[in-house]
Amino acid sequence: MTDSIFAKIIKKQIPADIVYEDDLCLAFRDMNPQAPVHVLLVPKKPLDMLTSAQEEDQTLLGHLLLAAGTIARQLKIDGAFRLVINNGEESGQSVFHVHLHILAGRPFRWPPG
Ligand code: 5GP
Repeated sequence: MTDSIFAKIIKKQIPADIVYEDDLCLAFRDMNPQAPVHVLLVPKKPLDMLTSAQEEDQTLLGHLLLAAGTIARQLKIDGAFRLVINNGEESGQSVFHVHLHILAGRPFRWPPG
């Protein structure tokens, strides 16, 4: 299987504006931001989509949510931010390596478009 663009960023084969890293995940700014703050948080494990996760990924998935909170505090957006996971092409997923969008810095409507 060929590496996704995010796998290449994780391996530091292509550059990204990294804002957070630990043993299990990496966060970097989106190249096409949809809000003043738009960070992508990815597990280092190459899961293609959320629905590919298994029971064994429970700790990893919990870790991603905790990391999102840490990143939000670090970027001083913890008062208001939105997390988005697109799962599947029709939901808007274009990169098939699980990622959380962390968006902040503008008002967000509900329901989302
Ligand atoms: P999706 O549509 O899969 O939920 O989100 C993929 C996101 O990855 C998009 O917001 C897109 O702008 C971002 N993206 C795609 N390729 C790159 C890249 O090479 N570098 C960075 N920083 N972001 C990327």
